[in-house]
Amino acid sequence: ERKKCLSDIHFFRAQHRVALRNCGLIDPEDINEYIACDGYFALAGVLLHWDPSRVVEVIKQSGLRGRGGAGFPTGKKWELAAAASGPVKYVVCNADEGDPGAFMDRSILEGDPYSVLEAMTIAGYAIGAREGYIYVRAEYPIAVDRLERAIAQAREVGLLGRRILNTGFDFDIDLRLGAGAFVCGEETALLRSAEGHRGEPHPRPPYPATCGLWGKPTLVNNVETYANIPVIIRNGAQWFASMGTENSKGTKVFSLAGKIMNTGLIEVPMGTTLRTVIFDIGGGIPGGRRFKAVQTGGPSGGCIPERYLDTPIDYESLKKLGSMMGSGGMIVLDETDCMVDIAKFYLQFSQDESCGQCTPCRVGTKRMLEILERITQGKGRMEDLDELADLSREVMDASLCGLGQTAPNPVLSTLRYFRDEYVAHIRDKHCPAGVCRALVDY
Ligand code: SF4
Repeated sequence: ERKKCLSDIHFFRAQHRVALRNCGLIDPEDINEYIACDGYFALAGVLLHWDPSRVVEVIKQSGLRGRGGAGFPTGKKWELAAAASGPVKYVVCNADEGDPGAFMDRSILEGDPYSVLEAMTIAGYAIGAREGYIYVRAEYPIAVDRLERAIAQAREVGLLGRRILNTGFDFDIDLRLGAGAFVCGEETALLRSAEGHRGEPHPRPPYPATCGLWGKPTLVNNVETYANIPVIIRNGAQWFASMGTENSKGTKVFSLAGKIMNTGLIEVPMGTTLRTVIFDIGGGIPGGRRFKAVQTGGPSGGCIPERYLDTPIDYESLKKLGSMMGSGGMIVLDETDCMVDIAKFYLQFSQDESCGQCTPCRVGTKRMLEILERITQGKGRMEDLDELADLSREVMDASLCGLGQTAPNPVLSTLRYFRDEYVAHIRDKHCPAGVCRALVDY
């Protein structure tokens, strides 16, 4: 009992909840509970006292960057959408979370849907839009249900619809359900799918801020990004910018999964080290086994080995290690995991989810997968390692969207940090972790 209690204390002590501030505290089906926790104060203040340009300026000064993965400055995006001409504009929420092991957006939508609605309404006021859409996975039925209830309640009390809070501002939100294609998390594919077309990415520019949904200027942010907005407006840009690192401000939500004692959703200030997250908050590796690596960024990221555990978590530091922040999936691997098998798993995922419209992504990832299959079956050749690296570069350079451009990252990072495991599979016909069945029986 005491051990469990201490573990709980560690789990919460190093966390700082901003985007998750209301999750688990309010009833997500009762708008009054959200309002009682200062909900809609930001919207009221903005509509009654602020110029739209001041909203954009505060978001810019806060240093908030997109939490969906790419880390583009949110204020800059809002500024571009606000400056775009045209009477019709849209605000879109990307809730098409699809990384294996990631459940940050789902938890926010299930635990605090009102924060996203409030933020989208503020965004609508800031850029001059009157309509918003939330593109959410149909596989998240509880999130969909809570969003529908939240939208209905907000309309009922005059916080969505015509003349919000008796001002001259009209704004409403509707849902669009995604059918589970990972590529629809890419914003141009998401917009096409929301329009009712096949969800395929298209080249940028033009960017959605100038030419998005039905050809109109569209602001697209993800769930966690929006969840930060009301509290930035309430507490000020400086308050938010005082957390985190020089170039990565605020906090980040991660879903801790894999070989770790405390799995679950956590939120930490940017700059917290991987070691703190995995060993203090996460409680370390179960069963006395050794930590081997952590995969950040899902299928777009890479595996980070033990020697980089003291790396501060921010967009640039993770990129330097050959991984990326991604949307926040963090999967911990121990000595019983085979790194070649892990690379194969993620590449298989990207291969399955490729929309297939460009050859390097469709065929290149297939060829890479065939090589990895060969290696895990004990039929690999040493030349395969160079061929994997060459193919990775070609797929990254010649693919149209982020899925193809980042799909080789798990292979490149494991080749970089765990080359000895590839060599053991090829030369010694041995899987050090004892995972690859063909080699165990060899
Ligand atoms: Fe489709 Fe892959 Fe090309 Fe992206 S890179 S557009 S997923 S084929």
